[in-house]
Amino acid sequence: MDKFSLLEKIAKKYNKKPIDKIEKILNRINIMTFGIEFLKTPLNCYEYINMGETYAITILQNIETKETIVSSWGDILEEETYCQGDNLIQCIYCGRYMLINEKDYTKTICESCKNDVG
Ligand SMILES: [Zn+2]
Repeated sequence: MDKFSLLEKIAKKYNKKPIDKIEKILNRINIMTFGIEFLKTPLNCYEYINMGETYAITILQNIETKETIVSSWGDILEEETYCQGDNLIQCIYCGRYMLINEKDYTKTICESCKNDVG
């Protein structure tokens, strides 16, 4: 089994379980890790198992939903920052990034401070 498939299997099995527990499971099957790190993108906050490289495949967990996903933190950051491109707007009041209202961008309300940013 390749590493991606293996991590997906583990991420699925331990979905919503504490990420430090998942790290211990990886260590037990001889996957070397470097602790739990924090990642904040314009859209989400994650904890992830540090594999030592920005684009190394790893398990991340959304802080709010506790969903586990398999990707690299570099890819997630790019996806949730740059690839949103035109769909992303920054609140002029509090600085938070969010997706614009697709139906009517003038009706975009800041998720954080509730100001109208459209
Ligand atoms: Zn705001």
